[in-house]
Amino acid sequence: MSQADNPFLALAAPWIAGLTPYVPGKPISELERELGIRDSVKLASNENPLGPGPKARAAIAAMLDEIGRYPDGGGFELRRALADFHNVSPASITLGNGSNDVLDLVARTFLQPGVESLFSEFAFAVYPIATQAVGATARVAKARDYGHDLNAMASLVTDQTRVVWIANPNNPTGTWLSAQALKSFLGALPKTCVVVIDEAYTEYVSEPDFPDTTHWIESCPNLIVTRTFAKAHGLAALRIGYGISDPRVADLLNRVRQPFNVNAMAQAAAAAAIADREHVRASVELNRAGMRQLTEAFVRLGLDYIPSVGNFVTLNLGRPAGPINDALLHRGVIVRPVGNYGLPNHLRISVGLEQENARFIDALEDVLAA
Ligand SMILES: *Cc1c(COP(=O)(O)O)cnc(C)c1O
Repeated sequence: MSQADNPFLALAAPWIAGLTPYVPGKPISELERELGIRDSVKLASNENPLGPGPKARAAIAAMLDEIGRYPDGGGFELRRALADFHNVSPASITLGNGSNDVLDLVARTFLQPGVESLFSEFAFAVYPIATQAVGATARVAKARDYGHDLNAMASLVTDQTRVVWIANPNNPTGTWLSAQALKSFLGALPKTCVVVIDEAYTEYVSEPDFPDTTHWIESCPNLIVTRTFAKAHGLAALRIGYGISDPRVADLLNRVRQPFNVNAMAQAAAAAAIADREHVRASVELNRAGMRQLTEAFVRLGLDYIPSVGNFVTLNLGRPAGPINDALLHRGVIVRPVGNYGLPNHLRISVGLEQENARFIDALEDVLAA
């Protein structure tokens, strides 16, 4: 179809016409269809290789009989469970179809053409998309050692800045910011912008000065903290995440939210998962061992990597990663190229089960030797 046959195509908002879509990790089924292979492993989307824990699985099964009815659009039980867990009011919680949905709600609520949003180089790919989808202007601060340079970010704040996005830890670099660094950054910002702290990987971090910024909500009315069940809780396919903020901010976000954005299975599974500390503990422990397995192999192979506190690690191959990624795919190993982040020589590897990590290490060794 050309634009001449379909003049309405040219009527899309100009910022939509110029939007580059998010590139997800390649599904196993797609790779196997394309190459006619089997038994592939996927270490590309930072999922929990254990999947959900027993409590979440039981909650999902029990919900089967209920799915003929609409879910609770207000998410009463889940918001209460999350409020208890975080010791905040249920009115502070905004449920999302994945935390991605919450990021989108923030953009739709606070951004519009003519205003700016601000994030770092190498920050999570959804921030530029959410910004451009509503016609706002993105400001991108240079990174330092692959991580957020808060001074560089502060210097780009203008009176048009409405949303500042910070992933802590960051994806795809696995870098993190200390409580003190973040607190002084927040304190120096004008009260005319909202700050989103995206804590998708918070469960994995054990650094003593790593903050739990949900405790700052009461003193920071312009702070929105986002969390997800897609990573450590192992519920990526159900799509469930949430924001925590001042109730007045949550009220605005909830006006924009679709009435039934979070399905019933996701709500039930998440309420069970937040109470299953044992599954999170086991998942974090597995991740620690897997991270050691991967990084020890990188050291042995003389490969450079960005030290990560998440459940993934980004390798610097020192040469274009595309051909190496293709060769890994042909060996049935899916990892994540990050050229779209401005890192063309890098590959991001999610920490998997011990045998999955070993499959990747063997394939990489093989490819590099070829
Ligand atoms: C994976 C990820 C998310 C969220 O994912 P959802 O599946 O939408 O909850 C959010 N932020 C970062 C930085 C991520 O890596």
